[in-house]
Amino acid sequence: MQIAVLNEADRHEARVALVPESVKKLKALGFQIGVENSAGIYADSNDASYEAAGAVIYKDRQALLSEADLLLTINRPSQAIIEQLKPSAIVIGFLKPLDEPRLLEPMLRHGVTAIAMELIPRITRAQAMDALSSMATVVGYKAVLLAADRLPKMFPLLMTAAGTISPARVLVIGAGVAGLQAIATAKRLGAVVEAYDVRAAAGEQVRSLGATFLEVDLGGIQTEDSGGYARELSEEALTRGRSLIARQAKLADVVITTAQVPGRRAPLMLTEEAVRGMRPGTMVVDLAAASGGNCPFTRADDVVVVDGVTIYGPLNLAACLPVHASQLYSRNMNALLQILVKEGKIFLNLQDDILRSSCVLHQGKALHPLVEKAILTGANA
Ligand code: NAD
Repeated sequence: MQIAVLNEADRHEARVALVPESVKKLKALGFQIGVENSAGIYADSNDASYEAAGAVIYKDRQALLSEADLLLTINRPSQAIIEQLKPSAIVIGFLKPLDEPRLLEPMLRHGVTAIAMELIPRITRAQAMDALSSMATVVGYKAVLLAADRLPKMFPLLMTAAGTISPARVLVIGAGVAGLQAIATAKRLGAVVEAYDVRAAAGEQVRSLGATFLEVDLGGIQTEDSGGYARELSEEALTRGRSLIARQAKLADVVITTAQVPGRRAPLMLTEEAVRGMRPGTMVVDLAAASGGNCPFTRADDVVVVDGVTIYGPLNLAACLPVHASQLYSRNMNALLQILVKEGKIFLNLQDDILRSSCVLHQGKALHPLVEKAILTGANA
């Protein structure tokens, strides 16, 4: 059972899929671990620390890939990488199966098995494998620091000899994992925080962090699906939320937007009118930029200034904190690998809830209906 871990720096990725702490645990389970040289250099994991944990460092990527039974990555591997793997190999990582299903075609053609970390179900048994939550935690934290760094004000209430400085006001839109971490971080810095979410259940979590939950009467409509995710709402329901957000955004110094609906374009919640009504100097960090953004001005991986309001659309904030992002991701990987082994051998039980949801390709077949459809119809190329 040979694992390969790549150095993803050539794809501008500072995180690494496995850190030495997990190498030790996986060795105990019977895995051999090969790591490309300098793979963990930005994640506080140098080659010597991998070797001390029992991994073998490879300078030759081709040799590493050709021997691998499992390839652990952060990002979807390129076609050139896939083609060097054995067709029986298993690839595990953020593979974007719903955003870019067509780009899984090289893996499908080569016959490898693909497990998408995005599709690990949010069930209790899989909590330790939930890499989406791990990365959302890092991103929610970093978004607040990014805004605080650029804000022409301080966050906390200060009582000084020269008088009182009033605290910054932060508005968080969407109180899922990233939103809740943004709230907690802004509170720790001393800001006054308000948050809005369509899921009423989020209210209790927001209040427990000491923030105000902004409530909108949505007429009793169902806003959550059976999995606890937000549903796509009607224009009327969205408009009610937008009006409240526009009103509160006028008072905010920082707006962090995180609203997402799985498999859909992110809802536009911070409208053009809202931005034009905000004070110059306000910082917006749109964490939904990868799925279209919560603001019409958001440009993915870019910064725009509209009437003095700065709007960031970062795509990979988790990679800005590679040490902890890698540590969390590596622990998620380790937890997942525990269910892939039986009596010292790789055992892929596709009837298991976790693999039934997350295993998108196996033996040349697309197991996920959306991936199959996209590949057949040529969508999302
Ligand atoms: P997400 O990234 O899909 O969305 C972020 C937030 O945006 C969500 O809270 C969502 O309700 C909200 N949102 C969607 N449309 C909105 C709109 N129009 N206006 C305002 N807010 C809007 O969410 P996530 O962080 O991945 O979490 C989604 C759900 O999964 C939550 O209920 C969370 O508690 C749950 N969850 C469960 C587990 C688990 O049980 N293991 C782990 C993590 C998350």
